[in-house]
Amino acid sequence: MLLELRQVWKVYRMDGVEVQALRGVDLGVEAGEFVAIMGPSGSGKSTCMNLLGLLDRPTSGQYVFEGRDTAALSEVERARLRNRRIGFVFQSFNLLPRTTALDNVALPLLYGGVRDRARAVQALQAVGLGDRMHHLPNQLSGGQQQRVAIARALVMRPALVLADEPTGNLDTQTSLEVMALLQRLNRDGVTVVLVTHDPEVASFSRRVVQFRDGRIVGDRPNRPRLAEGSA
Ligand code: ADP
Repeated sequence: MLLELRQVWKVYRMDGVEVQALRGVDLGVEAGEFVAIMGPSGSGKSTCMNLLGLLDRPTSGQYVFEGRDTAALSEVERARLRNRRIGFVFQSFNLLPRTTALDNVALPLLYGGVRDRARAVQALQAVGLGDRMHHLPNQLSGGQQQRVAIARALVMRPALVLADEPTGNLDTQTSLEVMALLQRLNRDGVTVVLVTHDPEVASFSRRVVQFRDGRIVGDRPNRPRLAEGSA
C-alpha cells in the first residue's frame, strides 16, 4: 500500500464554530493507481488532498505513507518527504512568473539539494516541451504552462502526484491533452490522485472515490477512457 488514511477526522475551529471537514475517512491507495476524487463543493476533497500532501495534519486518525505513520514525523521530515516523494499540480499552475520553464522545473531539485539539472531538461522533454525550455510562463499557452507544472511535479521522481482540478483553467481540448499526459505518466508507474468536479476528467482515472459531507460515500473501479492517440 502506498498510502492509507485510517479513520481520519479533520475539524476546523473558527470563531468558536466547529466544522467537521472530514468525518472518519478510510482510504487506501496502492502504488500505480490513478484515483479521481469527486464530490460537491465543501465535501472535504481539498482537506483530504492537503492531508495526503502532508500540508496539514489530521485532527485524529492515522495517515500512513509508504509504511510510515506520518504523525511521528517532524516538520523538517515532512517537508523532506514532500519534496522527495510527492509532486503537486494545481489548477492555477503556480509557476514563478519571471522564471523560465527550465528554472521552474529545476526548483524542487534546488530545494532537495539534487545537483543534476539534466533531470529538469529530461522532465520537460517527457512532457513534450523540450523546445520551450527557455520560455517564460507568459510566453506559453495554458496547456503548456500546466505541462511545465507537471514536469516540475515529476522532476524529483515522486511516488505520488497530487493534482487539484488540474484542468480547471483549461479549454476542453487542452484538458484532454493534459489528462492524456497524466494517464501516460500513470502507465509509466506514477501513482496519481486528482480532485475534479468534472466527470469527463474523472473518466481518465481507474478508480473514482466520491466524497459527501466529509465522508466517502462511493468508491468504484473505472474503466478508463483512452485518450486519442495514446493507445
Ligand atoms: P471541497 O474541497 O470538497 O470543496 P473543503 O475540504 O475545501 O471541501 O472543505 C470542507 C469543509 O471544511 C467546508 O465546510 C469548508 O468550509 C471547511 N474548511 C475548509 N478549510 C477550512 C479552514 N482552513 N478553516 C475552516 N474551515 C475550513
